[in-house]
Amino acid sequence: MDQDLVSTRPRTNWAGNIAFAAPDFYGPAAVAELRAVVARARRVRVLATGHSFNDMADSPGAQVSLASLPPEVDVDSAASLVRVSAALSYAQLASRLDRQGFALRNLASLPHISVAGACATATHGSGPANQNLAAAVTALEIVTADGDIAEVRRGDDSFPGAVVHLGALGVVTRLVLEVVPSFDVSQRVYEDLPLEVLDDHFADIMASGYSVSLFTDWRAPRLTQLWIKQRLDGDPTAPTPPAPVTYAPWFTARPALTARHPVPGASPENCTEQLGVPGRWFERLPHFRPEFTPSAGEELQSEYLLPTGFAVPALRALNQISDRVAPVLQICEVRAIAADDLWLSSCYRRDSVAFHFTWIPDTAAVLPVVTLIEQRLASFAPRPHWGKVFTASADDLHARYDRLPDFLDLANHYDPAGKFRNAYTARYLGR
Ligand SMILES: Cc1cc2nc3c(=O)[nH]c(=O)nc-3n(C[C@H](O)[C@H](O)[C@H](O)COP(=O)(O)OP(=O)(O)OC[C@H]3O[C@@H](n4cnc5c(N)ncnc54)[C@H](O)[C@@H]3O)c2cc1C
Repeated sequence: MDQDLVSTRPRTNWAGNIAFAAPDFYGPAAVAELRAVVARARRVRVLATGHSFNDMADSPGAQVSLASLPPEVDVDSAASLVRVSAALSYAQLASRLDRQGFALRNLASLPHISVAGACATATHGSGPANQNLAAAVTALEIVTADGDIAEVRRGDDSFPGAVVHLGALGVVTRLVLEVVPSFDVSQRVYEDLPLEVLDDHFADIMASGYSVSLFTDWRAPRLTQLWIKQRLDGDPTAPTPPAPVTYAPWFTARPALTARHPVPGASPENCTEQLGVPGRWFERLPHFRPEFTPSAGEELQSEYLLPTGFAVPALRALNQISDRVAPVLQICEVRAIAADDLWLSSCYRRDSVAFHFTWIPDTAAVLPVVTLIEQRLASFAPRPHWGKVFTASADDLHARYDRLPDFLDLANHYDPAGKFRNAYTARYLGR
């Protein structure tokens, strides 16, 4: 029997809404074995931590996990770079980086996801000056369809196309990321802000911390919570020096006096420390602690990224359909992300506002509302998060991603026979 063929494997994604159909599953323990698996396979896709909410990690042939490859974290202090194994989670990476005096600029709401899986889908946190996590990548090592190893570095023509790759170019084994000196963060949660305050103050509120998240359940026209994460060292790249959060006249929300969870009724024990207690960057930038279930646990998610200038009209458009959204919603989160130059990034050349929806785990009830949201946001050129639930068509995606044709050329170059194709790439990329 093939020694890398593993019989115990995840049958579903993290959310449980996708049952994987891939007949074979491999868990190579060395890159040489991985190269042999890829070279032999007719079709293959990587399954990382499976936190995507659609079938992008499934395969009509083999699925491969890189979790048994040696975990590497090599810091180059002089260059402010770290080379990491693809399957490492941000939780595993962050503590090792911090011990060496370094940090990543930002993190997503959860540290449980793999570095490669997050970058493949342009996963992001928040902060108008913070780009998504893929923007930290300076080089990728890829096992290509024939089992060879290719390196793509910042400065190469294909680099901006290769970083957010949806798993369609090959198997990424290592990534090089930019790092910055380690820093401390404190976070405070505020509650109850009328939605109308955002009409005039959306940009001010989003810029009132290093990373700001606004939450609403759409059961009333108000934000239920505002999570404000402040860097305590002063951020040298910030346009204005960070100020302590104060009550400017527009900011009428009350500070929470005990820890909160964004999802109503969920335990704050799962969340990173609040109440202004200082802590390391990786213990405050995510909302959720690595040793606990993130978010609601039982859920689906969708997210749409729009140019920041559309934030207020988009909020109004969503408010008009709140009676349809609220019954299937657990919580909605609004974040800001800086533009980047990565072809398939949902922030490609647009400073963006992201409207995220944590749904109840009921696909049939949720999908019509997802379609309705896409219709209502259509005039704001929304780009759906690649790793979440959406109903946009390939035509919609081609209209919203100028560089999709260039990405398809790149995919044809790396993978002429379509070894890394699956139902997801057929549906959305037309290949
Ligand atoms: C509770 C929860 C909270 C979330 N919060 C956020 C958030 O704050 N911000 C945000 O933007 N998103 C968020 N997400 C979405 C999540 O970040 C993305 O779906 C991310 O891609 C998941 O990473 P993963 O390691 O689980 O990858 P997977 O879901 O396993 O894979 C994602 C894709 O990448 C490909 N891939 C993975 N590794 C490799 C590799 N080494 N080589 C080639 N292809 C590869 C897979 O084939 C697949 O196509 C959240 C998801 C959950 C479940």
